[in-house]
Amino acid sequence: MFRDSDNRSLRLIDQTGGSHRSIGSRQRVIEVALWFVSLSVRMNVGAHVSISGSRVDSDSETPPYSDIRNAIPRQLAFGGNCGQIFTASPRVWKQPSITEDEATGFREETAESLEGPWVIHSAYLVNLCTPKDDLRAKSIDSMQADLDAAAQLGVPYVNVHLGAHTGAGVEGGLDNAAETIAELDIPEDVMLLIESDAGSGTKLGGEFDHLAGIIERTDEEIGICIDTAHTLVAGNDLTTPEAVDETISRFDNVVGLEHLKYIHLNDSKHDVGTHKDEHALIGEGYIGEDGIAAIVNHPDLRDLPFALETPTEDGKGFSWNIAKVKELREN
Ligand SMILES: [Zn+2]
Repeated sequence: MFRDSDNRSLRLIDQTGGSHRSIGSRQRVIEVALWFVSLSVRMNVGAHVSISGSRVDSDSETPPYSDIRNAIPRQLAFGGNCGQIFTASPRVWKQPSITEDEATGFREETAESLEGPWVIHSAYLVNLCTPKDDLRAKSIDSMQADLDAAAQLGVPYVNVHLGAHTGAGVEGGLDNAAETIAELDIPEDVMLLIESDAGSGTKLGGEFDHLAGIIERTDEEIGICIDTAHTLVAGNDLTTPEAVDETISRFDNVVGLEHLKYIHLNDSKHDVGTHKDEHALIGEGYIGEDGIAAIVNHPDLRDLPFALETPTEDGKGFSWNIAKVKELREN
């Protein structure tokens, strides 16, 4: 079946970023062929997509700004059916400004053409664990804005890192994070997800104990997002089917699989236990094809949504990475 939305998605492949422009026509033919094959794979997988620019299919003369609706055609063009967005630039303290038109359009187009679910990734500056009052106050404002945006957009999850305790210690940092979370007014139908971390410096969330520790300390119902690259470099082997089994059953024992709601599916440029956070193309890093295949086919993980935050290298963007995931998926 060739639906209208498929047609639109294909046309958009060329409009979604600079990476595609440099790809040779032969590789583009292969990518489009893979994209068609992948239409038959049933799983929830997508990319972290940008909302920047004016409406991608609009003819208006409006100068470039962000439009939350851009996420949908971009996701479709990459072959994704769920995924992640920032609501504003993640590197500065900036509140999202989403118009009612955008929000309604986002909800309608998502319901029409994606499986979902979306997840909003919080700003990088947020630090839930911080002992500093000013940073804590800014973090609360930023998180609240994203939680409210999620409610406005019908997005069920907001994802955040625990942050760095910067001297408060592990227990003190987790206490701080629990106090920060208690200050948030989490809307009904929105869940806060704590993302597993690479665990460099004083950052928390590398150990499964930290993830369990924050769940224990808060009355809110919070979930967990495992980032496969972070989890690997934090010291948990994910490179073989046996290792994935062992890591997931340890996660279940320490944290509880019922809390796991989303997976950031990334390969890693660094090995187990290095605490270095650098994502690699799917199958081309230390997790490798065997590890990624074991993750996306694992009985406890396969029905979860997967969002990719892979780099764009060697002309391999999200389309290539999502196609690769689907190739490794056994239906
Ligand atoms: Zn991540």
